[in-house]
Order: sequence, then structure tokens, then C-alpha cells
Amino acid sequence: MEYLKVNQALEIVLDSVATQSSEMVAIEKSLGRVLAEDIRANRDLPPFDVSAMDGFAVRSADLPGALSIIEDIKAGDIPKMTLAPGLCARIMTGAPLPQGADAVIRIEDTRQVSADTVQIDISVKAANDVRLRGESMKTGDIVLNAGTEITPGAIGILATVKAKNFRVFRRPGVAILSTGNELESIDEPVDPNRIPDSNSHALMAQVQAQGVEPVLLGIARDDPEELEAFLERGLAYDVLLVSGGTSVGVHDHVRPTVEKLGVEMKFWRVAMKPGHPLAFGVLKRSDGSRSLVFGLPGNPVSSMVCFEQFVAPALRSMMGNARPYRRTVKARLAHPVRMKPGRTEFVRVQLASDKEGYLASATGTQSSGVLLSMARADGLMVLPSDCTGLSAGETVTVQLLDGTEFQNETGFQE
Ligand code: AMP
Ligand code: MG
Repeated sequence: MEYLKVNQALEIVLDSVATQSSEMVAIEKSLGRVLAEDIRANRDLPPFDVSAMDGFAVRSADLPGALSIIEDIKAGDIPKMTLAPGLCARIMTGAPLPQGADAVIRIEDTRQVSADTVQIDISVKAANDVRLRGESMKTGDIVLNAGTEITPGAIGILATVKAKNFRVFRRPGVAILSTGNELESIDEPVDPNRIPDSNSHALMAQVQAQGVEPVLLGIARDDPEELEAFLERGLAYDVLLVSGGTSVGVHDHVRPTVEKLGVEMKFWRVAMKPGHPLAFGVLKRSDGSRSLVFGLPGNPVSSMVCFEQFVAPALRSMMGNARPYRRTVKARLAHPVRMKPGRTEFVRVQLASDKEGYLASATGTQSSGVLLSMARADGLMVLPSDCTGLSAGETVTVQLLDGTEFQNETGFQE
């Protein structure tokens, strides 16, 4: 089997993904879910032309001039009077404009000269400081599309259109299995001869970051029978993540065993670093349902990087998310990097920003066994497979990781 490029492998994965069916969810439980239906406006908002300021509703043609105040309109009031030439109404933010008015003058630009007269020395165009009817939404408009991830802002819109319950895509069931005789679970006492299983929990958190609560199956020894029993349990889920044992070693039984269980292997070699070997297969059942199996490399960094490149987009696509990929940004390299061409490299980096943009520096030792490089990373710098190295100051692409939405300073000037 050939080594695939990351994008080729990704295409195979996403082609194998079936979108989950949908279910109803209540608005208060919907944060982070993905809409499975278009949401439409059920009314015009604002429902009429309203004032955007505290001030005076006027006829713009009357300005500048002294105007007689005939009414006081608060938000929630219905204006009773019509503005004839020379008349105005005191108006509060959000209150409907009276008949005849076409503009609002904010209070700071006016001078009250008597109990019922206001002097306005400026002139304005029609619609000044007026929020026009339907400006926010018009009846029947699609305000949120299917495929939109539900954010606090989207929740505000759903509440606006009185969508108390709506359709979202179901979350897939995900199982996680670690494999290897050397592995020691988090619950076992420290044995200096063994290796702590970090993958189960790192993968768990990566799945949780996609809004899915996975099931940890535990650790399977490198024994074909034991592995088969674990894999069989794992294949009951929509997605099975197995780490370790996918390589070509004599004790790497994952690939032959999943094949024995009916999984069709789609690929197992991707030209990426860290990452190789990465196996992907699909179990198709007679009832049309399917399970995806990802055989992730055992090395802790490789396992996490492969998750980001393949599993996260697959889970997001399954959940109907129109945005399956991590955001990428351009950054300048803070230092030179060496690279042996042939495989796409994902270098763990920290990002700093200065007035020219982002500056990327590697998070220390990039060995795929050194998980601290991942724990410290803001992002993954992607070096194309034909790259032979880069100098400090050159521009690179960085895929942002979780947590990069926040920083330790506001980052703007006022
Ligand atoms: P493998 O892919 O099984 O050849 O494993 C490659 C390396 O990753 C070995 O050094 C393993 O000890 C290590 N490794 C495998 N699985 C895990 C795990 N669940 N947690 C931490 N390290 C692991
Ligand atoms: Mg192993």
C-alpha cells in the first residue's frame, strides 16, 4: 500500500462518514450542538421603526430649528400623536417612531429652551439614529442555517424566534481502546518497568472537546484473542479509536484483528510526521449502519496529532458541522527549522503576537514520545512534504488548537 498524503487520507475518511440522524433538543441543553434544520424569523425585528438613541423624534426637513415637544415616548409605548411640521416627540431608545417622524436626534445634540420647546442646531438625513423595521430580521428569513454550531450568540437568536426546541444532529458513540503489554492504567500503582497509559485520557479529552462523551474500554494486551474481545466491544460504537499496535511489528495485531472482525481497511500509511502509522477502516453492517475504526499510533504525540487531522474532522462531519477543520493562521517563524522532505510535518508551536502578527516557536523537543511538546502547544505548524527547511522570519501556516481562543492580554488598543 502506498503512503497517502494527509489530504488524500482525509478525503477517504470524510467520504466514509455518514451524517448522524437528528433529534430534538431543548434550547437550554443545546450549547455546542449543531443545527439539523434551518431556523427562520417568525416576525420582523424591530417590529416597527424604532429610535436607536435617547433624544427627539423629528421630521428631518424641519432641521435646524426650534421644535415643539408634543409627546413623550418610552420603549414599549405606542405613539398617539402624528408629527406635523414644527413638532417633535421626546423618545427613548427602542421606542417606536411616531407617525410623521423620519429621524432621531440624540439628546446631546439638542438644547431644551422651554418646557415644551427644543432647539436643534444640526441637520440630519432621514433615518438618522433610526433602526428600521426588519433591520435585524424579516419574517421568513433564514437566520441560522442547518450545520451551524450553536454558540451563545446563536442561542440568543433561537430565543428571539421563540425556538424552545429544535433539531440537532445526534452525537456519535465513541469508544477508546489502548493497546500494549507495557501499559499501566491510571488506577494502577507506579511500576518503573511500565509505561503510563496517557493516550486513553488525552484522546478522551480530544473527543470531549468535540462535545462527545466517549467510553474508555481500557487497555488490551498485545494478544490476538484478548485484543479481539476488546475490539469486538469497541465496534458496537459509531467510532472506535485504538491506539498502539497498528505498525508492522510482530506484536502489532490491531490491523489483522479488525479485518478478521469484518472491517475493511481503507489505508494504514500516511506520509506525515508525527503520525505514521495510522490505520483507518470501516465496518459496514447489513442494516446499513457503519462503524469507523481509527488505528492511531501509540506514541502519545502522534496519537493526538492524528486525532486532530482525521478524527476531529470526522466527528464534526458526522455531527453535520459545516466547519469540520481547525482554524489556520499565518505566522512568522521565530527561529529556523530543519526538515527532511517526504512527509508533511506537524510541529508543535507556541504563538506570540506582535504588531506584524503571529510569531511561532517550537515547544521544545519534537520527539513524538515527548507529550509535553503537545501540552504546551497553541498550535500545529504545518510544513509541506517538499519543504527542506525554513529560516527565521519565513511565513508558515499554523493550525490552532483548543485554548487558542483565549489569551493573557486583551490584545487591542482603544
Ligand atoms: P506502538 O504504536 O504500539 O508501537 O507504540 C509506540 C510507542 O507508544 C511505544 O513506545 C508505546 O509504549 C507508546 N504507547 C503506546 N500506547 C500508549 C499509550 N496508550 N499511552 C502512552 N504511550 C503509549
Ligand atoms: Mg504497542
